[in-house]
Amino acid sequence: MIPAFDYRPEYHARREEIDAAIARVLASGRLILGEEVRAFEEEFAAFVGTAWAVGVNSGTDALILALRGLEVGPGDEVLTVANAGVPTVAAIRAVGAEPRFVDVRPDTLLMDPAGLEAARSPRTRSVIPVHLYGQPADLDAIGAFCSRHGLSLIEDCAQAHGATWRGRPVGSIGDAAAFSFYPTKNLGAYGDGGLVVGSSRGLERRVRMQRMYGFAGDGHARVEGLNSRLDEIQAAILRVKLRHLAETNAERASLAARYSAGLRDAPCRLALGAGGATHAFHLFVVRPVDRDAWIAALDAAGIGHGIHYPEPVHLMEAYRFLGLVPGTLPCSEQACREVLSLPLYPGLEPRAVDRVVETLLSAS
Ligand SMILES: *Cc1c(COP(=O)(O)O)cnc(C)c1O
Repeated sequence: MIPAFDYRPEYHARREEIDAAIARVLASGRLILGEEVRAFEEEFAAFVGTAWAVGVNSGTDALILALRGLEVGPGDEVLTVANAGVPTVAAIRAVGAEPRFVDVRPDTLLMDPAGLEAARSPRTRSVIPVHLYGQPADLDAIGAFCSRHGLSLIEDCAQAHGATWRGRPVGSIGDAAAFSFYPTKNLGAYGDGGLVVGSSRGLERRVRMQRMYGFAGDGHARVEGLNSRLDEIQAAILRVKLRHLAETNAERASLAARYSAGLRDAPCRLALGAGGATHAFHLFVVRPVDRDAWIAALDAAGIGHGIHYPEPVHLMEAYRFLGLVPGTLPCSEQACREVLSLPLYPGLEPRAVDRVVETLLSAS
């Protein structure tokens, strides 16, 4: 059996450090918003190259707090993509704004800057590109579009910790960026977690207040807020894992290179990003000519897999009220029919990658 994802090999490799971090928190007497969260925020901001970072409860909350902090709300429209799962759209709706979708490029499956102008209206306030699978979206073109029209740019970095765009870490280019520490992510907690980064001090103040009931440190709500805190145990674990992130990302890249070489002549396309960027390989995604046959072969061999994502958000039942029909976003819709994620995580054995490749080649 080869699972699609398993956090345990990495845990076993770092067990002493992680267990010690958890024990340190339990002995400290402080479980919420203490020294670990403060130190992790500082270390993560330094890693991304932003002035500040604020730990929150999830990647979805990080998007919600970034939108609220940038004063996006009812009556506003936000441009994003439909092939990256529900969270970005759920966050836009949670602040009372309307999602407007931009199709993706057929080669990279990332937001196509050529579609931005047509999706814009006088109510557009913000753009949220998703660095899908670990590949940075075209931040030059998207950033230029935002500057031209006075829109805020929020990077969804939930799948791209450590990826770079023209040598700069993703998350440092937009007005704000959201990271998730959901266990499967490149930097994964052992539970839920997320974080907002940015460089405007006014935005930092709004996000910090809104993370906890709108408090400014004294129990009086200055603005309406939420309860969305990163806890001390997760922050302590994340501090350990952040120190090893360059190494675990390099391991992901090497396993991905092994897949790419093995599948060179296979009947599939690979989602490998554009030039000018470093891919963080959150997922290794292939686009087989016959996805059903490949899935059947993986199932028969006891090999895990995933589909990220099976349906574009604009066609999901919950979002029917948007009134969008099949054919609206042809590349996003096609991508959902094609993509297949193969096992990829730190500690996955190279020989397991070889077995996955052999299984797929024999099914082709
Ligand atoms: C995981 C993910 C999120 C949300 O993160 P949670 O921590 O699960 O709330 C947002 N956007 C993308 C693209 C993601 O993959």
